[in-house]
Amino acid sequence: MRLVLLGAPGAGKGTQAKKLIEKYGIPQISTGDILRKAVADGTPLGKEAKIIMDKGELVTDSIVIGLVKERLAQDDCKKGYILDGFPRNTSQAETLDKVLSEMKSPLDVALSVDVDKDDLMKRLTGRRTCKSCQQMYNIYFSQAKKDGVCDKCGGDLFQRDDDKEATIKNRLDVYEKATAPLIDYYGKKGILKSVKGVGSIDEIFNKICSMLGA
Ligand code: AMP
Repeated sequence: MRLVLLGAPGAGKGTQAKKLIEKYGIPQISTGDILRKAVADGTPLGKEAKIIMDKGELVTDSIVIGLVKERLAQDDCKKGYILDGFPRNTSQAETLDKVLSEMKSPLDVALSVDVDKDDLMKRLTGRRTCKSCQQMYNIYFSQAKKDGVCDKCGGDLFQRDDDKEATIKNRLDVYEKATAPLIDYYGKKGILKSVKGVGSIDEIFNKICSMLGA
């Protein structure tokens, strides 16, 4: 299955993607994760991207498209994949369509996870991420058992620079302007499915699975 996950920052795309990869045995391709790794590794690309990410803006299309193309060409993507955080605007979506049609493997589904703006703010400002395994927690909704420590691997929890309030506001504005139009884009192509991203993680996941016919 070749799937694109759509939804505002904080809608829970990453969390649902992690559950979907277990169920379907296909990789998650998160451009945000790839970029954060480049930042952590201190590569030239990472240094350039960090300035843009900290402002909540989008990294240039040519950078992310290059990263995604490279990733899609890897063997583990043959069975399918979950694109999380890409495409982020119409131009990325059009390029993706072109690349996939050359590969003769078009997208099967664009799944939109819909959440109200007020909820998104709380989810994002409360979000804490594990430095070691990237597991996410939330100080309002899903705290780690021990403050600041990952339940899964014991790593340190931290707040991402781009989860600070001013950046979040900008990320949500950028989403509305650049990314939300993709809901219409995939709707017109007839591959859009939408799920309300409210309730527990498992409830949302079950709704997604029944939508995907799993
Ligand atoms: P995310 O974790 O998906 O919210 O991504 C974090 C940040 O990485 C975004 O706010 C952007 O600055 C950058 N980013 C991630 N994916 C993309 C993309 N497809 N196009 C441009 N910038 C991206």
